[in-house]
Amino acid sequence: MNICFSVIAATFIFIGIVVGLSQWSAVQEANKSQNRLYLGNVASFLDKYLDGYESIVREMTRIAADRHTFDKKNENDLTLRNWMIERLRIMPDALSIIHVDNNGHYIRLPYVPLSSDEKNRWDPRKEPWFTISVEDSDEAHYSISRDPFANREHVITISLPIINGTDGSNTGVLALNLDLEKSTEILNTALPPVKSRTFVMNRQGELVINPGYQFDPKVLKAIALNAREYRGDFVMNNRYYAYRTIGSQSWLVVHEVEESVLGDIAFRQCMSTVLGTLAALIVLLFCWWSTRAALNAIFMRIATSIRSGAINPASVEELIFEEIHSSQQRQSSIAHEALTDGLTGLNNRRAFDADAARLSADPHAQLAMIDIDNFKKINDTWGHTVGDMVLKTVAELGLRLRGLENISLYRYGGEEIAVIFQGISAEKAQSYLEKWRITVNTRTFREKDLKVSFSAGLCKMGGAPLSETLACADRRLYQAKKNGKNRIVAA
Ligand code: GH3
Ligand code: MG
Ligand code: MG
Repeated sequence: MNICFSVIAATFIFIGIVVGLSQWSAVQEANKSQNRLYLGNVASFLDKYLDGYESIVREMTRIAADRHTFDKKNENDLTLRNWMIERLRIMPDALSIIHVDNNGHYIRLPYVPLSSDEKNRWDPRKEPWFTISVEDSDEAHYSISRDPFANREHVITISLPIINGTDGSNTGVLALNLDLEKSTEILNTALPPVKSRTFVMNRQGELVINPGYQFDPKVLKAIALNAREYRGDFVMNNRYYAYRTIGSQSWLVVHEVEESVLGDIAFRQCMSTVLGTLAALIVLLFCWWSTRAALNAIFMRIATSIRSGAINPASVEELIFEEIHSSQQRQSSIAHEALTDGLTGLNNRRAFDADAARLSADPHAQLAMIDIDNFKKINDTWGHTVGDMVLKTVAELGLRLRGLENISLYRYGGEEIAVIFQGISAEKAQSYLEKWRITVNTRTFREKDLKVSFSAGLCKMGGAPLSETLACADRRLYQAKKNGKNRIVAA
């Protein structure tokens, strides 16, 4: 029993571990994909936002190159100025537009006067966005720069070269300055699925849009080294990173989550499996304990009975057999109950008919018919309840004395009991009946002067039709009654 329960417990634990582990990795992967999805949403929102402005600037460069001849001497060219101001108005987060030609002449809108000193100091051709755009043919460039007019340290600059439509020459650069705070706001208002940091950096490992996090520059360089594709994810220093490029692939939106945060979530979600396994183990432990207690009680009863001499060791086997048998009976179906007599617990007449028909051809089978003597008188003297008790006692003793021999007892009718013996010698069958008869006859009852006895007739079944065997047993039973009752007639 212990081995059986241990094997079941080990199986539970094994299944618990396997399910827990597979659930752990599944939950981890689900969390990661949720974070990737979040990053994808933030990145595409930011990308669309910037892309909208980029398209307007691109459109403007085309028109600026084709239709507007820029009077290089006249920085107050009104036609160009009005045309540019119109575009500026439709861009809510735009701070300014700068139109620069290759000689360093520029128009900046909205117009802010600079002191001549400042004017001399500021050469737009020295700005990184100018140098990079003037070298390139058609790409938009995203950078963070300083806007000297708005007195802002950090603005997002989208710059594009102005290409002459007729000869393809580069005539200058158009740059749009966007409010960096608006982009930071987008990152700040997005709700990540777990505690994490989302920021934007360039491919050189410099922060571009940062909602205020602290970073080690070395870590940023390492992220830039790892994030070489258009999109992807990797684990570095116990942190999970997912990234996506935006702004004509110049920038990377990076989402960073501590692995321990993902681990905590997975642990919480796997707790249900752990608790389920624990509950199953507790139930199993309880089953093991109660089965052990029940078995102990049975063994104690047997041991006490042997010590007090109430049963001999040989009957123990019978007792255990009956214990098992009776527990099997408890679980058995209604069909089985239909074959059992309710008062005595013996097999009933229906069972007898079936078994007797089946065994009538068995050459070694024998049949005995038993009838309690003067039963009517017992009923009349002590009442039917005592009569029932006597019937039960006779049946019980018959069952108890048969040991493990193949002897079947049936309530044939009224106070008559039929017995079928299989594979037992005539002597052994007779001695069993004798032992039973004497036990019944010497049994004392609470009712004063109540003496019980029975008579029996025993016949071989072997080969003869059942009716003949029954007639034989009846005849011998009648003989026993006639000879003075309380006896067995076997020949
Ligand atoms: P004999 O020694 O010749 O057998 O005499 P008897 O009094 O036993 O006669 P008989 O076998 O004819 O009597 C059977 C009686 O048993 C009749 C009936 O009232 C009684 N009886 C039958 N079934 C039950 C039962 O289930 N419970 C009780 N208490 N009495 C029963
Ligand atoms: Mg009778
Ligand atoms: Mg009788």
